[in-house]
Amino acid sequence: MEFHEGFTPGIPSECWEWQGKTEDRSSNPQKRGYGRFYDKHGKRNIRTHRYAYEQQHGPVPQGLEIDHLCDNPPCVNPKHLKAVTHSNNWKRTHILRKYILPLVHALFP
Ligand SMILES: [Zn+2]
Repeated sequence: MEFHEGFTPGIPSECWEWQGKTEDRSSNPQKRGYGRFYDKHGKRNIRTHRYAYEQQHGPVPQGLEIDHLCDNPPCVNPKHLKAVTHSNNWKRTHILRKYILPLVHALFP
């Protein structure tokens, strides 16, 4: 599967979910993890969110990792991807999951 065959681009605010293989998430089997695909030589197994970021913004800067601003691991919309430090990635995700999402779910059940 080529990268562009794995998802349907939509409007920028929406998540473009990878439809191919994703990593399992042992913490929550209901949710899908990061997308994966093989390059055209079938040798390198690539994480789709990193690839999507690089297509739009260029190589991921040394030492940074790609954060999903939408907290949706299979999403490959480059507008939802940001290169951040591991520390900031962890902090942002932790705050989002612990404080923001429960509030949103309480307000809009
Ligand atoms: Zn998204």
